[in-house]
Amino acid sequence: MRDIKCVAALASRFSMLPGVGKKTALRYAYAVIDMSERDVDAFCEALKDVKQNVKLCKVCGNFTEDDVCEICKARSAKQICVVAYPKDVIAVENTGAFDGAYHVLHGTLSPMNNRTPDDLNIKSLLARLNGVEEVIIATNPDVEGEATAVYLARLIKPMGVKVTRIAQGISMGSELEYADSITLTQALGRRTAL
Ligand SMILES: [Zn+2]
Repeated sequence: MRDIKCVAALASRFSMLPGVGKKTALRYAYAVIDMSERDVDAFCEALKDVKQNVKLCKVCGNFTEDDVCEICKARSAKQICVVAYPKDVIAVENTGAFDGAYHVLHGTLSPMNNRTPDDLNIKSLLARLNGVEEVIIATNPDVEGEATAVYLARLIKPMGVKVTRIAQGISMGSELEYADSITLTQALGRRTAL
């Protein structure tokens, strides 16, 4: 039996989400049929709400609904943990081992993908270094993450700010967001100067 056209269309939307395969997407689409009209409306509203209201924090570049994110409002920026993506902020926050501020680059340097320093959120990092004691670079321990760390260290160290790199507790090529909290806590604790 072929899937009903509009159900298949919805499934193809769900399959755009990370970690959702074709089978799961179809299950989700059929589940919508059983939802109340009210729930479906709320679902649509929630989708639009996220798209319309989430923006980047003016200070750190993390996702926020305000001009400045909750972390920037509440925390000291004596230590700034630099990560590639907002999801990495969540990974570090989940360890509970860091109480400083963050800076989100929105990518890593990649000559292969034509991603240069101008494409990353670097200027605003340099602009907020006054009074900062340490910049901890927590990009993924892969080639691009390392290149980005070295590049940032070269820029920041001459400004008199200590630059450190999280330890290679997470194995080379693995991603921060998939590292378990204990491993990531250890990587933070055993960071080394760049
Ligand atoms: Zn912020």
